Amino acid sequence: MTENRENEIEINKEEFRKIGYQLIDKIADFIDSIDKKPVTTKKLPSELQELIGDNPLPENGTSPKELLSKTSDLLFNNSLLNGHPKFLGYITSSAAPLGALADLLAASVNPNVGAHILSPMATEIEKQTIKWLAEFIGVSPNYGGLLVSGGNMANFTAFLAARTAKAPQSIKEHGISNDSEKLTIYCSKATHTWVEKAAILFGLGTNSIRWIQTTPSNKLDEKILEKTIKEDIKNGSKPIMLIGTAGDVSTGVVDNLKNLSTISKKYDMWFHIDGAYGIPAAVIPSLKSLFEGVSEADSIALDPHKWLYSPLEAGCTLVKNPQHLIDTFSSHPEYYNFNNPEGEIAQNYYEFGLQNSRGFRALKVWLTLQQVGRSGYEKLISEDIQLSELLFSLAENHEELEAVTQNLSITTFRYKPFNNADEDYLNKLNEAILNELQTGGDLFLSNAIVHKKYCLRACVVNFRTSKKDIEEIVEIIVNVGRKTHLKLFTK
Ligand SMILES: *Cc1c(COP(=O)(O)O)cnc(C)c1O
Repeated sequence: MTENRENEIEINKEEFRKIGYQLIDKIADFIDSIDKKPVTTKKLPSELQELIGDNPLPENGTSPKELLSKTSDLLFNNSLLNGHPKFLGYITSSAAPLGALADLLAASVNPNVGAHILSPMATEIEKQTIKWLAEFIGVSPNYGGLLVSGGNMANFTAFLAARTAKAPQSIKEHGISNDSEKLTIYCSKATHTWVEKAAILFGLGTNSIRWIQTTPSNKLDEKILEKTIKEDIKNGSKPIMLIGTAGDVSTGVVDNLKNLSTISKKYDMWFHIDGAYGIPAAVIPSLKSLFEGVSEADSIALDPHKWLYSPLEAGCTLVKNPQHLIDTFSSHPEYYNFNNPEGEIAQNYYEFGLQNSRGFRALKVWLTLQQVGRSGYEKLISEDIQLSELLFSLAENHEELEAVTQNLSITTFRYKPFNNADEDYLNKLNEAILNELQTGGDLFLSNAIVHKKYCLRACVVNFRTSKKDIEEIVEIIVNVGRKTHLKLFTK
């Protein structure tokens, strides 16, 4: 059939090899010279549109060779390069080059990891990846789970399992509208915005979230938590879920997980840990006490596309008793013939989460875990933390900088041209500095508001960043700070 069927989409072996090698050559050059490129493009959206051309849907085909050559140049020259050594914004890591090859391999085989029979080897690889990730962060390898697109989806998946497990009546049959008690969830004020989305999407509504105040060190305040829970119970609410954060997105603080676990048990709540960013640091022996309590969690969210350096997208949900995922997500339509030959629980991943057809995102995580190994990750993550500490100390010792916080690999600080500067002015100044930096192309930082201070924020989840980069970053910031201050102050 393929021999005599003419079509535009198949690429023959010789051609595939040729254009594939050309693309790989270009990617190799791109990665090799990434540190010499500007971190981001200076072009405006309209200029970018002009570059791709405002053409209607093509009527006829174009050769893949031409398409790949043009498109790789478009991307290499007009992207924000989060693989650049001076990219320290938000929590986006530089991507392991092996991950790019893994994605190519995964797409070539194209298994549908929704069911074992559709993806025999890929399902087994995903299972092993899940087991290894559990080992990585120091919880029992009996945790089960699956890979999802990212932290939001990982947290949503756990949220839904918690809702099913702890609602007083069967959510599957009755939904939540008939619950006489109002289901409530608890988390610190520093919790990532996913929780708001989850409450909106999954029927609880944002009023069900108790945003608990944090202590001065930005950890969830356990006294206020217990007081709130008790009041809620008295008023007829049903606490179902307590969320601890292992590395908050603004400043990297880890809640006291052990105490939260105790409180969750006392009030029969599901204990979830959002470790999307920070939990891989549990691999470092000296940080063991910081992550104590992790192994008590009913569920954990982590993001291989953050501190495990996977290319986007890769998030992961781990659940202590994976039966909760089946109870939440499984269904058996008549048109699926997905048998379970060995009666094992994690066979058909469509029963574990929201997705039906699923890509093979486990491959890039699985391969990189083997390329680097536990000890390799321990070294990389420790170095990221040390670089963040170096930035903090350089800021501390610079007359025009004020170091504000340092936790895990996140440092916050601000430019402060003179003592006793007005707080409103400093906030305005640092926001202007950030805007200048983000479009300048020399480096990329983001921001955090810490105790009402507008701060510059650097998060090192980047195996390409060196000590020299950090030193240069400080110089660049001070230079931009001085210029921006001159402009603003004299106005
Ligand atoms: C990044 C992050 C998220 C969201 O993860 P995505 O991968 O961006 O969806 C949630 N929680 C925390 C703590 C995070 O750091």
